[in-house]
Amino acid sequence: MIRFMNLFFIIAALALSITSSPKVYASTTVDIITFDITDNSNATPKDEEAPSAPQDVANEKIAYFTFDDGPTSDITDQILDELKRLNIKATFFVVGKEIYQKEDILKRIYNEGHSIGLHTYSHDYKKIYSSPDVFLQEMQQTADYINEVLGTDANIKFIRFPGGSAGKLNQEFYDQIKSAGYTIFDWNVNLEDGVRPDATVEELINNAKIVSNKIPERIILAHCNLNNKNTVKSIESIYEYYKAQGYTFAPINNNTKEFHYQFDK
Ligand SMILES: [Zn+2]
Repeated sequence: MIRFMNLFFIIAALALSITSSPKVYASTTVDIITFDITDNSNATPKDEEAPSAPQDVANEKIAYFTFDDGPTSDITDQILDELKRLNIKATFFVVGKEIYQKEDILKRIYNEGHSIGLHTYSHDYKKIYSSPDVFLQEMQQTADYINEVLGTDANIKFIRFPGGSAGKLNQEFYDQIKSAGYTIFDWNVNLEDGVRPDATVEELINNAKIVSNKIPERIILAHCNLNNKNTVKSIESIYEYYKAQGYTFAPINNNTKEFHYQFDK
């Protein structure tokens, strides 16, 4: 019986591999065989059980919508309206200098229960990546400004590198970031609306289905810059797509595991 089950699962895994990408195949095979060996013998294989995808048995499935580069007038508001309509809480990685004269929008983000993260003060790559000290100083400056506007003493520690951390982090820089108490959030889903703000809604939705790193979470990068006019129109479909796969949407919080790209030590 056990042998039959082994054979059954291997066949199921092979069958699944034909329709899956090679990456998925690798971990699916391991997961299913592991299940078979460790599970008790009274588990009866049923047709519908065999092809379960790894994420079904993995950790809790959480998706994080993240919007960078705001607050901006109009676009950030539109996104907030849509999130409210769909009852989704998201995370906004704000740029310090953008808060000026858009204080009400920052307040709205906060009052409507979204998370706020730091995305430097200037967003000027030459400046922020000139040294770790400048980078960290801009994060702190932004956190202070947010507190001033919101009248809070929130200790905002979620940060996102403009352009992502790839090619910018090394061990020393990382240690400095950790000493300052920050948690880094790169992404594994990218609407590509930052590099291509003129992409169609359909393109944005298709981009959002591509997962670049197989952590259990889906950290979805989107933007709320003035030129991101189509992003708001893609939110509902992306939400439905991940919801149908069993994901729950949440704002980044203290329980969210840090995610940054690998760097050379
Ligand atoms: Zn940015």
